[in-house]
Amino acid sequence: MGLIAKVVVGVLAITFMTFVAFFGRLPALRHTPIAWLYRAIWVYIPNGILAVDQALTGGRIISSAGTFGHYVWYGRHPTVLIFYILLLSVSEFLYLPGAWPRMSRFHQVVGAIAIILPYIFLYLAAFSDPGVVTAATHARYMSLYPYDFTLFHPGQQCRTCHVLKPPRSKHCAVCKRCVARLDHHCVFINNCVGYGNQHWFLLLLLSTALLTTYGGALGLSMISENARARSSIFSLWKHPQQSWHHYFILLTYGIQSDVGVGSVTLLVVMTSPLVWGLLGYHAYLIYCGTTTNESMKWQDWQVEMDDGFAFRRRLPIPRNRHPKFEASWTRWPVEPAQILVRTVDGEQPNDTSLPGEGSWERVWHLRDIENIYDIGFWDNLVDIFVPNHSFRVEAQSDLERGKRNRKTKA
Ligand SMILES: [Zn+2]
Ligand SMILES: [Zn+2]
Repeated sequence: MGLIAKVVVGVLAITFMTFVAFFGRLPALRHTPIAWLYRAIWVYIPNGILAVDQALTGGRIISSAGTFGHYVWYGRHPTVLIFYILLLSVSEFLYLPGAWPRMSRFHQVVGAIAIILPYIFLYLAAFSDPGVVTAATHARYMSLYPYDFTLFHPGQQCRTCHVLKPPRSKHCAVCKRCVARLDHHCVFINNCVGYGNQHWFLLLLLSTALLTTYGGALGLSMISENARARSSIFSLWKHPQQSWHHYFILLTYGIQSDVGVGSVTLLVVMTSPLVWGLLGYHAYLIYCGTTTNESMKWQDWQVEMDDGFAFRRRLPIPRNRHPKFEASWTRWPVEPAQILVRTVDGEQPNDTSLPGEGSWERVWHLRDIENIYDIGFWDNLVDIFVPNHSFRVEAQSDLERGKRNRKTKA
């Protein structure tokens, strides 16, 4: 196999692994081959190896048979975090010796900043508190958001931590703790992404997206410079009078002239769209005022609605809060105006202890339900980037119902 073929195969393999690691756990891809592939790599194949070991040697090679796959899947370990740091560092180690002397002073300064930022945000995202619900923080997290009586109802306890679940919180099965506004557990940072560190996670995504785009653009310009040294006719955007054969020969020459710059450029050109894709997905969730976890709950509600099992009725405004299960005050500008419940038989709920007033109405569409956690894109962003920001004073008028636009949820 020629050098260039080896480089291409290596780049394809790393891109593929990055792709599966990025998107394997995405709820939007729950029932696709990508999710299956992710489980295959992390659970089925390790378990298969263990089964063979068990059959041949009685499990002597790997003594902790059976628990390994479980550990890899559910355990908290920095495997992917290390993979990510290695990918960054090795790429920079290969790229910089060839590229640095050819960069202008301006690009050297910008490049240095672009290289350092992902490490800083990775550190902050991985090691800051994602918003763990403890006895000390419980009261504070209870007062961030009201219960929406749709995805989150008051009075529910975490079965593991035995705490009253704050609105929008979730128990992380990997870290075995409840986290305020948990988005998801991220294997790249080996930490939960929640109220406390979601801004660092987004900045990590953004800085990585910018670094790969910038490195890719610089690398491509160097590759085409190398190729032009051979033939001045070469341009990345192929000239019509140039044959494809000739174009690829020159391109290969441009990559081979500096294998370090060439291979890393190929890698970032292929992985950059993945990072932008993931960033775009999170931007969309912010636009919808939801989280990865909540988007799954909305999907489940859509299924209930399709079956005709979802009912709603009015909640009074102002409403008397439950003194034991709800905070007496939250900093959120919007209060729930309805309660949504599911019934097992498709008949109207007849539980008289349910809150609300008036008659029950069957709901068919998500768009008919208001997401009280969506207060508009910019305020949703402020909520993520400015911890403990109080929206009450600024948005008092929003308390009047019916003024805000409805959006379809993710
Ligand atoms: Zn918990
Ligand atoms: Zn976690």
